[in-house]
Amino acid sequence: MGEYLVRCVSDGSVQPPYSLSCPHDNSLLRAEYKARQLGLLDLPGIWRFLDWLPVTGIIAEADGKSVTYKSRGLAEELNLQNLYISFNGYWPEQGARMPTCSFKDLEAATTLERLLEQGGSSTLVVASAGNTARAFAHVASLTGQPLVLFVPERALERIWTTVPPANLTLIAVQGDYYNAIQVAEKVQTRPGFTPEGGARNIARRDGMGTVMLDAATTLGRLPRHYFQAVGSGTGGISAWEASLRLKDDGRFGSNLPRLHLAQNIPNAPIYYAWKGQEPSPTQANMFDDVLFNRKPPFSIPGGVKDALEATKGEVYGITDSEACVAKKLFEQSEEIDILNAPGVAVAALSRAIDAGAVSPDDIILLNITGGGVARIKEDYPRYMLQPDVTISRWEEAVQFLEDRS
Ligand SMILES: *Cc1c(COP(=O)(O)O)cnc(C)c1O
Repeated sequence: MGEYLVRCVSDGSVQPPYSLSCPHDNSLLRAEYKARQLGLLDLPGIWRFLDWLPVTGIIAEADGKSVTYKSRGLAEELNLQNLYISFNGYWPEQGARMPTCSFKDLEAATTLERLLEQGGSSTLVVASAGNTARAFAHVASLTGQPLVLFVPERALERIWTTVPPANLTLIAVQGDYYNAIQVAEKVQTRPGFTPEGGARNIARRDGMGTVMLDAATTLGRLPRHYFQAVGSGTGGISAWEASLRLKDDGRFGSNLPRLHLAQNIPNAPIYYAWKGQEPSPTQANMFDDVLFNRKPPFSIPGGVKDALEATKGEVYGITDSEACVAKKLFEQSEEIDILNAPGVAVAALSRAIDAGAVSPDDIILLNITGGGVARIKEDYPRYMLQPDVTISRWEEAVQFLEDRS
């Protein structure tokens, strides 16, 4: 279970298991699992896919996973015969129980388990526009992992858990997500702190890759198309990597699903890079700021560009108003609330249909990356996390953390 080597995508060289980077270039690392065929284990949540996760143990309480189901409502609206939805959120009527309502719950569980297995007593540093912070806060509170979260002030209202928070420091950063990332990058290099690694962390990617594993094992085959709204594009890379493994498994078909990635213009660096266009000036407010990462892992070996090229993929630039209409259409036709980001993915699906890029009978997987925030309030109390301090410069964060220790 969970036996693997870690290799650089660029040159195939084997690296120490907990590396986050390659010695010769900026390539991503990738796990190569010993089990060529995916066994499904009798374990809760994503841990059933343990064969293809870079961990040996599990966090049993972190038992959320994607739910793949065949759409009726939205499929009818869009005239599609084989539309499948990967629902990542809280919707118990559909079997979905992700505790913080986004697919970041998938990454947090594997990352924290891997950190436990690695040993040591470092404090984990996470920068987030909201959903990642919530997911890590939740799982870290279950395991007792010390955690420092850097979150833009504006995202504070999104930082809640459904279990009592433990061992957390929440630092509000004036500015946007990028400013929060910059501060975290300074802090995480100091003794006693460890970075979570973002797209470079194989535990994050293979945790997210379970979206595709769940879909393929539910459908009995790989879908033809995969739609997702992206910020960093890590979910797209993960879907591609999972597809490569499933193809190699031999039981799920040999065609890699085409990646259809969606960004919210004008804050859409992946979209402009893929189209070879000059980026438009960015905008302060956007439909969902979790979709704005200023430095996505686009052109590095094993990154978003490689994933798009390998799968004959496409990137869509979606406006706020298109996303808004698409989100409403989804909520009305599927009868569950979703986050704004997946509304962008639904809009991309509409565009692809109009462009003839998908056929009505193609097997399509639509990743609803977050939803059920309204639904979960009916069942659980919410613990709103309060910032321990608000800062504008990284030196203030270091000072605060030193004064506290
Ligand atoms: C993080 C996030 C995304 C974008 O994910 P990538 O890391 O760019 O793949 C999309 N939707 C939601 C709800 C998210 O939290």
